[in-house]
Amino acid sequence: MVSLRTTAIEEAYKQWRDAGGLQQGCPLCRNTPLEQFTYWKVIVNDFPYDKVAEKHHMLVPLRHVTEGELTEEEKQELQTIKPTYLNDNYQFIIEATHKTKSVPEHFHLHLIVVREL
Ligand SMILES: [Zn+2]
Repeated sequence: MVSLRTTAIEEAYKQWRDAGGLQQGCPLCRNTPLEQFTYWKVIVNDFPYDKVAEKHHMLVPLRHVTEGELTEEEKQELQTIKPTYLNDNYQFIIEATHKTKSVPEHFHLHLIVVREL
């Protein structure tokens, strides 16, 4: 399968996953915010898409919920953050489809600043 991670990061990710990393609690809940809003936080991706990304953060709701479980207030704040904070600080917002998501039970958007090649 094609990956946006370099071999080294992909291997580290697989080792973590195969060692039960996802069973040790949600990494998205656990990671310390770089920036926090009322309902959302920005965190570092521990296993970045480093083939393409110079900076790889993630926007996640503070609550451990799927996209379908977001409240109107959470959706509204996302619509406020997107054209301002995200637009000002990143080049791309990527959402993995279901077959690629590693933490499908906690909605998250990948925030990317592209690596210079
Ligand atoms: Zn979570």
